[in-house]
Order: sequence, then structure tokens, then C-alpha cells
Amino acid sequence: MSAQGNVIPIIHWSLRSSCLTEDPELFFPVTFEGPGRAQYERAKAVCHRCPVRLRCLEYALSTHQMYGVWGGTSPDERRAAMSASRRGVR
Ligand code: SF4
Repeated sequence: MSAQGNVIPIIHWSLRSSCLTEDPELFFPVTFEGPGRAQYERAKAVCHRCPVRLRCLEYALSTHQMYGVWGGTSPDERRAAMSASRRGVR
């Protein structure tokens, strides 16, 4: 299997994720502010009880996932974390 051949690799940790039984659209709000904020908060609540939250967040950061909720974070929060990481801020 190859990601370059348009085959999505199986990510074993995701098989234990709390979002497997949730509506996937919950994790992709149209906006993270205003009316989308409540949806984001519901997705975050699922993430915070997820046993693979840190693995999910590591994956999102390492693969530059710029859409949706990953590891309980919004795209803006991940961008800020990546920017701080590049600057050496912890
Ligand atoms: S942290 Fe959230 S988005 Fe990531 S696998 Fe768990 S429930 Fe799904």
C-alpha cells in the first residue's frame, strides 16, 4: 500500500478512537466561531474522552491537517502549536 498511489494507509490507533461511532460531520464544522462553535465544543468533548487523543493530535500536527477537529483542537490551535514549535516555544 502506498499513500502516493492514492491508497489511504490504515492507521491502527484510529480503530480505538471515540469518534468511530460519531457522525463524521461533527468534526468538520463550517466555522469554529459563531454558530459552529457549539458543534466544535461537542466534538472537543468527544475528543477529551478519547483514548487515542494524543496520537491523533500528533498525527494531525505531523501531517499538517488544516481542516476539522483532531485531538480536540481546531485548525487555528494547531497552526499556533506548529508556529510555536518552529520558534522553539514550548
Ligand atoms: S481525538 Fe477526537 S478526532 Fe482524534 S481520534 Fe479521538 S475522537 Fe477522533
